[in-house]
Amino acid sequence: MTIVDTTAELTARESELLARVPDGLYIGGVWEAGSREQIGVQDPATGRVVKRIANATPEDGIRALDAAAAAADDWAATAPRVRAEILRRAFDLLQERRDDFALLMTLEMGKPLAEANGEVTYGGEFLRWFSEEAVRISGRYGQNPEGTGTMVVSQRPVGPCYLITPWNFPLAMATRKIAPALAAGCTVVVKPAELTPLTTLFFAQLLEDAGVPAGVVNVIPTSTARAVSEPIIADPRLRKLSFTGSTPVGRTLLAQAGQNVLRTSMELGGNAPFVVFEDADLDKAVEGAMLAKFRNIGQACTAANRFIVHESVADEFARRVTEKVQALRLGRGTGDGVTIGPLIDDRAVASMTALVEDAVARGARVLTGGTAPEGDGYFFEPTVVVDVQPGSEILREEIFGPILAISTFSTEDEAVAAANSTEYGLVGYVFTQDLARGQRLIDRVDTGMMGLNTGLVSNAAAPFGGVKQSGLGREGGLEGIHEYLSTKYTLIPA
Ligand code: NAD
Repeated sequence: MTIVDTTAELTARESELLARVPDGLYIGGVWEAGSREQIGVQDPATGRVVKRIANATPEDGIRALDAAAAAADDWAATAPRVRAEILRRAFDLLQERRDDFALLMTLEMGKPLAEANGEVTYGGEFLRWFSEEAVRISGRYGQNPEGTGTMVVSQRPVGPCYLITPWNFPLAMATRKIAPALAAGCTVVVKPAELTPLTTLFFAQLLEDAGVPAGVVNVIPTSTARAVSEPIIADPRLRKLSFTGSTPVGRTLLAQAGQNVLRTSMELGGNAPFVVFEDADLDKAVEGAMLAKFRNIGQACTAANRFIVHESVADEFARRVTEKVQALRLGRGTGDGVTIGPLIDDRAVASMTALVEDAVARGARVLTGGTAPEGDGYFFEPTVVVDVQPGSEILREEIFGPILAISTFSTEDEAVAAANSTEYGLVGYVFTQDLARGQRLIDRVDTGMMGLNTGLVSNAAAPFGGVKQSGLGREGGLEGIHEYLSTKYTLIPA
């Protein structure tokens, strides 16, 4: 497979955009030029550093929390309509700056430009949705059962929040937390992933332009996540930790948060089953598979990880999907016609190679792809593997890359057991034309989200999140703002 456009030279447009991205820490409304050791941000399509930015220390982290704590009362007292209008302005500005944000995400994360544009749409919707929710925070009012008083139930902002985001959706994972926090009246410290901090810095500048007051949003990229985070999480002024990332890191953070009895939201890893029944519309299933597997180069928590296909249609499904995979164009996300980009780093490439080798050693066959092409950048060929045997690593681990692994089943019970045989429970996909069977699967597959005859479920208006070791809490939907509100009950005697 040839790789399109991995030229190491930045275009004039790319250089001009990168020059406009802030390179400092954003604390208390001030951009602080970092004089210390810096973070070099790479273009994963070339492996070249495209920009250097300030690297926050643990002291910087505490100063960011100082700023968030100092701004907390004023922001909580700001009228909901004012908070709503600032978020709405941020949404409008994001539409105006859409091309810049899309290109920046492609540069630091690698996804094809069309997908980066899709992320601007998706990420922006959280700003619009929560601007609408900010003015609908309500409570209850009623007589107590004894008739001796009135019970008033209200919602208050939880207080200063620490938001930790991953590299795979640099904009949307930030807006999915920042927008509901601000709508609820909370101030925040944001720690973006060190691999993709540029989008968050650029977004902080947008929020400033939209009128977010100093101290309400603070951004501290760092290469020492643990050292910077621990003192913030241990500080009694912090009231909420929201994390999106891997399950192992989530477990560590939950233990740390326990010391301070913090409210937490945990959006963790996934290992999504993609079940295709014998009565499925195979065209739809193949289309759904391409979306659920290869969007974001397979690096999504919602990515289909295990294709569990009825034995009577498995060969035909594999043949059709292989044809589509061979038509993908691998390359730098800015390249003409590129539909799949590089992985995030060399560790990810090594992990794909190891997963394929393990599956093959246990009896699987590679129908297409399976190796990392020679040359610059962190590319791995989109891959289809069939006859995957129980016990293979690829069924246990979150693949987080472009490998579509197929195993088979014969009965519905077997399909459900296979779907549930994982510690994760984020999302499941089911393809069947039998509605009753679809509903049975919705009930029996143990996940926080399901796609019935579709390979894409994310929507700002829907509650996103998992069960089991995929996490705690929900982002988006009517539920999302409640992660940043605490319930207060008052009794007023009659
Ligand atoms: P990661 O867990 O390595 O890192 C996530 C973030 O945590 C980064 O900002 C990182 O710097 C920070 N971090 C790492 N160790 C830390 C520590 N000890 N203390 C404080 N912060 C720490 O995950 P990643 O590789 O960036 O992202 C991929 C993972 O995220 C996958 O497992 C994916 O499924 C998951 N994810 C989940 C969702 C969801 O909504 N459920 C969405 C996107 C990604």
